[in-house]
This record gives sequence, C-alpha cells and structure tokens, in this order.
Amino acid sequence: MLRRLGIGGRLFLAFLCISGLSLSSGIASWLILRHIAAAQSVVNTKALPAVAATQHTAELSAKLVATAPVLAAVQSSAELSNEQAKLSRLAQEMVASLDEARKLAIDTQLVEEFAGAVEKMLANLKSNYELVRQRLEEEAAYRDSAEKVADAAQSILLLSETLISNASAGASAVTANLYGLINDPARREDAYSAIDRLIEHDIFLMERMYELRHRSAQISLLINRLNRAESMVEITEISRIFQDHMKVIRRRILGIDDPVRRAQALQSFNTMETAAGDTPVAGSLFGRRQRIIDLVGKLDTLAEANRDLSVKQNAVARTILDRSGEFARTTAERADHAVQIGVFVLILTLLGAVLVSGTIVWLYVERNLVRRLGGLSRAMQRLTAGDLAVQVAEDGDDELRTMAVAVNRFRDESQRRLDLEQERERITVELKRHREELQQLVEEQTEQIRLVNTQLRQEALDHAEARERAEQASSAKSAFLATMSHEIRTPMTGMLGMMRLLSDTKLSSAQRKHLSIAANSGEALLGILNAILDYSKIESGNVVLEQVDFDMATLVEGVVAFMRPIATEKGLDFNLKIDRKLAPAFSGDATKIRQVLFNLVSNAIKFTERGGVEVEVTKAEADKSSQRVIVTIADTGIGISPEQQEHIFQAFTQTDASITRRFGGTGLGLAISRELARLMGAELKVESAQGTGSKFIFELTMKTARRPGRAQQRGPRAAKARQALNILMVEDDEATRLVADTVLSKAGHRVRAVSSGYAAVEAVADFKPDILVMDISLPGIDGLETMKRVRKALEAPGLPVIAMSAHVFTSEVERYLNSGVDAFVAKPIIDEQLLEAIGTLTDRVPAGTVLAAFDEVACKADVDALGLEVVRRLHRIAQDSLPRRFEAMHEALRGNDRKALRDLAHATKSSAGSLGFPRLLAASVALETASASGSAAELGHIVSECEAAFAAGFAQLDQTLPANEPAERTAAE
Ligand code: ADP
Repeated sequence: MLRRLGIGGRLFLAFLCISGLSLSSGIASWLILRHIAAAQSVVNTKALPAVAATQHTAELSAKLVATAPVLAAVQSSAELSNEQAKLSRLAQEMVASLDEARKLAIDTQLVEEFAGAVEKMLANLKSNYELVRQRLEEEAAYRDSAEKVADAAQSILLLSETLISNASAGASAVTANLYGLINDPARREDAYSAIDRLIEHDIFLMERMYELRHRSAQISLLINRLNRAESMVEITEISRIFQDHMKVIRRRILGIDDPVRRAQALQSFNTMETAAGDTPVAGSLFGRRQRIIDLVGKLDTLAEANRDLSVKQNAVARTILDRSGEFARTTAERADHAVQIGVFVLILTLLGAVLVSGTIVWLYVERNLVRRLGGLSRAMQRLTAGDLAVQVAEDGDDELRTMAVAVNRFRDESQRRLDLEQERERITVELKRHREELQQLVEEQTEQIRLVNTQLRQEALDHAEARERAEQASSAKSAFLATMSHEIRTPMTGMLGMMRLLSDTKLSSAQRKHLSIAANSGEALLGILNAILDYSKIESGNVVLEQVDFDMATLVEGVVAFMRPIATEKGLDFNLKIDRKLAPAFSGDATKIRQVLFNLVSNAIKFTERGGVEVEVTKAEADKSSQRVIVTIADTGIGISPEQQEHIFQAFTQTDASITRRFGGTGLGLAISRELARLMGAELKVESAQGTGSKFIFELTMKTARRPGRAQQRGPRAAKARQALNILMVEDDEATRLVADTVLSKAGHRVRAVSSGYAAVEAVADFKPDILVMDISLPGIDGLETMKRVRKALEAPGLPVIAMSAHVFTSEVERYLNSGVDAFVAKPIIDEQLLEAIGTLTDRVPAGTVLAAFDEVACKADVDALGLEVVRRLHRIAQDSLPRRFEAMHEALRGNDRKALRDLAHATKSSAGSLGFPRLLAASVALETASASGSAAELGHIVSECEAAFAAGFAQLDQTLPANEPAERTAAE
C-alpha cells in the first residue's frame, strides 16, 4: 500500500501524522486549560466571593456589636432615632449579606449558626432600643420632677432667707431699743419684756427660718445625690432623709407667721411634694430614679449578652472565614495543581509530538528523502561538473529510485556521449588527417579517375549496346516462340483434326491403336507448345486479365466434369464439394481460373495411381462486394518432398528425371499457374508429404457480381447452341477447315466451308449464314475484310462473326474485336471453345430448327471414348433414374418445393449433358431457371417437356446404338 503511494503520498501521510500530533497536543492543552479555567472559576466565582461575603457579614456583625453600646449611651430621642435608623440599615444590610453568604455558603450549617447569632443580636438590639427609649422617657420625667423639686426647694430657701433677714432686722431693732430702755430704768421693764420677746420670738423665729433654709438646701443636695445614686439602698436612704426634711420643712413653713409668705412656701412645698412623691414607688422621683437604674442594669445585661453573642458571632464568622479561606485556598491549590498537571501533560504531549515528528522527519524525510535527495543532488552536481564516476544507489521503490535510475542512465548516456565525443574527436582528427591525405590522393587520382571515367563511359556505352542486343535477342526469342508456335500449331491442328476424323472411320484395331498413339503424341506436343506459348506470353508481359461475370461453381463443375472420365479411367475416386454459401456470380478472368484449375486437377489425376482426388470449393472471408474463394485439390498420389516443393513452381522443373518418363509433362504447368495466380492477385501453394499425397490450394479474392453469372446464361445459350445453324466457315488451311467443319457439323449445324474471303463472299449468294466463322490470315483479302464484305453482301451488319487465329497475343485479339469481330477462338481449334463461342452468339440468331432430342455425334464420341458397354450401362442407369426424378419433380411441384425442383432440374441438366439429349438439356435448364419464379402451370409444362424430351431421346438412341455395334466389333477384330 505504502509502496504504491509514492513520495507525495508518503510525505502527505507523514505531515498528516505530525499535524495530527500537534492537533492532539493542542486538544490536550485545550482540555487542560479548560480544567484550569474551571478551577480558577471556582476560586473566582465561589471561593473568593464566599470569603468576601463572609468578611462583609463579619464586618456588619462587628458593626452591629458596636451599635449596642452606642445605643445604650444615647441621651436623647433624636440621637435614638438616628441610631435606630442606622441600626435598621445595618439590619437590612445584614439580612442581604446573610442571604449572599447563604448562597455562597461553603458550610451551610456554619452560616446558619452565624445567621442565628446575628438574628439574636438583632433581637437584642431591638430590646436594647426599647430599653433605651424607656430609659430616655424615665430620665426626662425624672429630670422634670427633680428640677421642680430643686426649684421649689430653692424658693423655700430664698423665702427662708428673707424671713431670716426680716427676723434679724427686727432683733437688731429690738436690741438697739433695748440699750435705750436699759439705760432708762423706767423702761427697764420694757427692756426686759422687750428682751423676753426678743428671746422668745425673734430669736426662735430666726432659728426655725434657719432650719427651713438649711432643710431646703439639704433637699437640693439630696436631689443632686439622687441624681448620682446607683442602688436601691442608696435611693431608699435618700428617700428617707428627703422625707425627714420634708416633714421638718412642712412644720417650719406652717410656723411662718407671715401668711403670704407661708402660703408661698406651702405652694412651693406642695410642688416639691408632688414632684417628688412621697415614697420610692412608681411615678415618684425615686421610683423613676430606681427604674432608670433598673433600665440601665437591663441595658448592661443586654450589653453583656450582646458581647457574648458578638464573641460567638465572631467565632462563627472566623470559622466561616477560615472555612472560606480554606476552601479558596484548596480551590486555588487545586487550580494550581491543575495548572501543574496541565503544564506537565502539555510538556509531555509537546515532547511526544516533537519526538514522533522528529522520528518521522528523521526516519523518513531525513533518511529516505533528504539524504537520498542530497545524494542525488551531489551526484547531479558532480555530473554537471563533468565527473562521470558517480554511482547513485538505486534503492527504494519510489520516484527517487526513478530519479536515481534516471541519473545513472544520464551518467551512462553521458559516458556514452563522452566516449562518442572522444571517438568523434579522434575520428575528426583522423578524418582531418585522412582528408589531408585524401586531398592529396584525390588530387593524384583525379587525373586517374578522369581516365577511368572515360573508360567507364565507354563501358557503359558498350553495356547499353549489349543490353539492347539482349533485349533484341529476347524479343527475337519471343517472336521466334510466337512464330514457331503459330507455325507448328497450324499444321498440328490439321494433324490432330485429321486423326480425330480418321478415328471416326472404320479401322483395324492395330490401326486404331497406332492412330491413338499418334493422336496422343500430337496432343502432347500441342500441350507442350501451348505451355511454351503461354509461358513466353507471361514472360513477355503479354497477358492481360479479362473481367467477366461467371459462376464459379459451374466453372469448377465444368473442369471436374471434363476431367472425370480420365479419373474414372484410372479407377480413381473423384469428388467435388462446393460451399453452398459461395456467391452465385463473380467478376474475374474465368478463362485463366479454369486454366489454373485444369492444370492442378490434371496433375492430381496424373500423379495419383490409387485412391482419389477431391476438389473442394469453400468461401473464406467476405465483405459486401467481394469474397475470398479457396479451391483445394487434394490427391492421394505420389506426393512431393519438402525440398522438391521449393522448386516445382519454377519453369521446366519436375521433381525428378523419372517423372517425364513415367508421366510426361514439361514442368511448365505449375510455373504458368503460379504466374497466372500472381497476376490475378491470387495465391497458389502446396502442402504435401512424399508417398501420401498432395494438396494444392488456390486462393483468390474476387468481386461478387450482381447479375447472373455466365453459367446461368449459358443454359439457354447452350440449349440454343443445339439449335441447327447455318455456319459459313472461311479457312485456308485445309486440315483446320476440315476439323472445324467436322466439329460444327457434329454439333448439328449446317456448315459451308470455303478456303478464301472471295469464296465466302460468293457463297452467301446461295447460302444464308447465321454465323460467320473465319480465319484471320487468309490469302487475298484477310479475315477482317472478308467479314466486312460478307456482312455487306448479306446486308446484315450485325451478322455474328467468330475469328480464328494462331496469333493469340492480347494486342492482336483486341485489334480483331475492335474491328467488329464478336468472338475469338485461338488455334489450334478446341471443339468446346469453338462451340462455346457459337453458343455465346446464338442469342443474336433468329430462332430456327427445333432442337434434336438425341445428339448422335456426341453419343458416338462417348462410345469411342468409353466403349459401348459403358455407354450402355450409363444409359440403363439413366433410364432407371430419370423417370424417378421426374416423379420427384411432380412431387415437388405439388408441395411447391421450389428448391427441390431446382436441384432436380440441375441434376437432370447434368444427366442430359452426359447423355447427349439436347432437348432434355434445354428443358431442364429452362426448369432450373424458372423454378424460382415461374408459375405452377408453367413449371408443370416444363416438367412434361422434360419427360417428353427424355422419351424422344431414348427412342432415337435405341435406333442409333445397335447400328454401331458391328462397327465396334469390326474395329475390335
Ligand atoms: P508437369 O506436370 O508438366 O511435369 P508441372 O509444372 O505441372 O509440370 O509440375 C511440376 C512437377 O511438380 C511435376 O513434374 C511433378 O513432379 C510435381 N507435381 C505437380 N503436381 C503434383 C501432384 N499432384 N502430385 C505429385 N507431384 C506433383
């Protein structure tokens, strides 16, 4: 997997790892910071506020505690209400602070305890306030009464002093009077009475007023003492003294003589008595004083309780504060701890990240990339500097390896270039040296070359002359061959024709045998001549391909049919297989294809003694417009060794010398066949093993034709060819004339044979030819001229004309055809070729005599070739099989099986051909043609015609054959 990634991918992975590590350390830091923040937050939001709230509450509580003495010391109601306001503010603050403390409480129980103490304190303060208020009221009332008592006492004091003064003044006056009376004895008694009164009244009065004044003054002093009194005992003592004084004062006041003054004194006394009360009970001056002392005592007790409470409160507050402080401290410590752990983990993660990143960077980037890149860079620098002794290790399996390989290649290439450069330099130096030498040499040899050039020019001229001579010789050879063949073929034609005619006459068996040998030799010679001519034509490039539409199957069938008798004669099996998918028509040179196939099939039969020959036609690749056709000719003959196979396609080559002796031949057939095949773009090859047989494969690609092939046209034409025609034949060579005449007459035509053009023109006066057959080279007017004149004489410019000539070069044949000749037949005349040429032109001949039911000439030829017995046997077979075939035709007609009908017609066509029944042949061809599209009635009619033609043919045959038997017998004798 990693290997496949390449450097980019691996680096990406490495950086991904490093980034992942940084990310994870970042995440760890974030988590730690969050933890620390949470701890700090606890410190900030809980611990510190809790401490602050506790402190605040404690401060408030201290203030509350401090309020109590102040409250207790209040001296006026204004002060009291002021303090009261402060107290209620404090109380409110306290409640709020307590609520806050409760919310932030770290130890709720403690806070509640504290709150309880505070509430108690508040309740105490409330009581305190109430006591103070009562105290102030009592004090006001007390002060009022005391002042009244003091004022009244003062009034009495002043009154008593006045009374004293008055008494003193009276005493003084008395006294003064006394001195006068004493001295006046008359008056002594007066004096004594005055002294008694003075002593009894004035001085006594004075004494009582002094006492009154003293007692009044004591009252004021008592009031002062009462103001300072601090205990019930003391108050009771003062009260008792006060009451004593009051009793005496009352008596003294009642003792005042002056009623006005007495009344005044009594009023003051009453005031005093009312204000002071008589006993220390509630409402009296002393009672008030006593209540004040009580209240002060209660206040002191309350202050004491408050102090206790304050102590307790302070203790709780301290505990809370301690706890809060402890909590804050613990939380802060925890936060510190978290910070420490965080820092530790952070450092650890960072170290881990740095370690792993470092490892990755070291292991992969440094060791695998940087180091190797460095090596590559150094190697490249060295290479750039021209140092080729660089060796880069090609390790790893990534791009760097590719680069290393490239650098090594570059080094090798550079080395090679350097070597080449050195070599080039060496060569340049060498060349330079050589050039200098050469220059010298050139100069030396220019002269020689000029001389040689002159010689060469002369030689070239000589060569051109020689080539011209050779070409002339070759042309001369071709011309010689052409002339020779022409000159030899003409008499040969005559000879062979004559021999064929001779063989039709009555001969002894020895004569027939000799004639047969002569004819065979003649045929062989003609074969050799033809082969040499063909080959020389090919050699001189005189072969031109024709393009005609034809039916390949029919062509092969024709070849096989033609060769079958020979194969049968040798006792060989002879089979033909044709691929049904073969196109119905092709466009190509049918003649040359036939020539090749004839050659191959005849070789196969020739070189096979046992077994058989099989011809197979198959279709290979095909496209819309063409098909590749493979014709295989396989035999079970002598075979060809691999070495021999290499040579057999060369001209005049046979596998060994004995071949000519055993089989004859020229060794030209295969050479011609291969050349023809080559010309047609076809292939001819052999597969063979000596002793087991050979297989010749002829493969050619041909255009498929749309219109029906010639074979299909040939049926009606061939049938028509059986029509008896008037044929005017012009041939100066007697033998050829005789042969052609015989061939045409045998085919049932009426022939007028003449030896010159003039004779031909004359002949048309009483002989109306349907076709003119003429030799080209004629004495007097030549063939072409004769043609013109005959046409003119007959007033038939479209008269079909067949030219015969031994001049078979393409250019000449083209000339004839361009001059108005309709068909051309090469000499020596081959019966079939002549008859086929006539067949192709029969279309243009008006319908004439009805076809013969039986071809006597053909039958005789068969008897000659095969022997009467064989022919008879063939006839018997036909007599048996054909009626059955007609029945099958009726059957097919009834079932409208057109294909079966066509096959039956085709088979009948072959039988009719071999039987020599022209009428049956024509009828079966018509049936085959019409089988595809003809109406049932039309087809029924043609089947009936077949049956009639067959019956008529046998009727004539029966009349003909017995007559021949004695002749055969004679010949045999
Ligand atoms: P020809 O048959 O006239 O001798 P060919 O060129 O046709 O010349 O054949 C050349 C030679 O090839 C023949 O002489 C024969 O030795 C050999 N040859 C051709 N066809 C066959 C065959 N079917 N079987 C064996 N040998 C063959």
